[in-house]
Amino acid sequence: MIYLDSAATTAVRREVLEAMWPYLTGDFGNPSSTHSLGERAADALAEARASVARSIGARASEVIFTSGGTEADNLAIKGIALATPRGRHIVTSPIEHEAVLESCDYLRRHHGFTVSLVGVGSDGLVDPDEFAALLTPDTTLATIMYANNEIGTVQPIAELAERARAAGVPLHSDAVQAAGWLTLNVAELGVDALTLSGHKLGAPKGIGALYVRGRVALEPVLHGGGQERGARSGTENVAGAVGLAVALQLAETTREADAARVSTLRDEFIAGVLQGVPDALLTGHATHRLPGLASFCFVGTSGEAVLLELERQGIVSSSGSACAAGSDEPSHVLVAVGYEPEVAQTAVRFTMGPGITDDEVREAAGAVVSAVRAVQGIAR
Ligand code: PLP
Repeated sequence: MIYLDSAATTAVRREVLEAMWPYLTGDFGNPSSTHSLGERAADALAEARASVARSIGARASEVIFTSGGTEADNLAIKGIALATPRGRHIVTSPIEHEAVLESCDYLRRHHGFTVSLVGVGSDGLVDPDEFAALLTPDTTLATIMYANNEIGTVQPIAELAERARAAGVPLHSDAVQAAGWLTLNVAELGVDALTLSGHKLGAPKGIGALYVRGRVALEPVLHGGGQERGARSGTENVAGAVGLAVALQLAETTREADAARVSTLRDEFIAGVLQGVPDALLTGHATHRLPGLASFCFVGTSGEAVLLELERQGIVSSSGSACAAGSDEPSHVLVAVGYEPEVAQTAVRFTMGPGITDDEVREAAGAVVSAVRAVQGIAR
């Protein structure tokens, strides 16, 4: 099987599992317990927090462990909006992950916020001038994703952060898909909050982190025992936190080389598909895109039919985003960047992990061409 669905999830890396193992077995203590087993767990958690902080250029006290990207997005958006007395206005984009859009909509429905969506071009890019024009003295928070999970477009986050800072508005960015490929240094990016998820970069599902800049006030979403310095109650996932820390460390050491190698393979893959299926539409931005992501609309097919045919040939990928999979609705991202709903239904997303090989990419491109032609009813 050739796995081209790394944006949906990844396998846990051996080094990550090995680092986690002690905290799932012998050193299984609760970090809140005062006995030695608890203290060892608390030490491991503190070390994991310091390590995650180092990976993103933050202070340990600015890292909150969560159950994943969805929870980190919810905590950032609801937590900052409800803690900040500045106003009741949020700025976001129409191509955000549902965890962001639904959190904003919750604030609109239950807390009287208004939500402005900044327009995106057909390439998915947010224009910094348009973004800045939406920020008002009433704007409590802006939230713009770093890299899109469906079309791969990478936003000019540092520039957007500068604009937000000039207007006195904190900027949150969902970096779930950027992690492992792009810099996560929060000082370079200039963001006030950043969402990370473990399972997209070789840590397990169910662990994530939210960075929140020191001076930004945060109202908790989960109430209870006051763990994570009151920001996120619930017994900490010690092994998960250790795993996330190791996954981020590993990714940081190979990130630039991985991005260079995989983006070359991605471009070969795109060229191969477009040569064999000339009417395929490549989504997203030509160059500002995630190294491992290529998504196409195969006009005259259904994305689901292409997926099935591909799986028969041993290639695993996904239609639109995995999170929206199973719904019949066309992807909100593809519609927002201008595709007709019928065209959006033909989208197939291919996402490569850092371990992808040249041979796999070559074989996959050939398989995609033959699968699309088969579904279009064109003889191979
Ligand atoms: N944000 C983005 C951009 C994602 O791609 C995903 C998952 O696909 C999430 C958030 C949700 O992360 P998690 O699966 O860890 O809840």
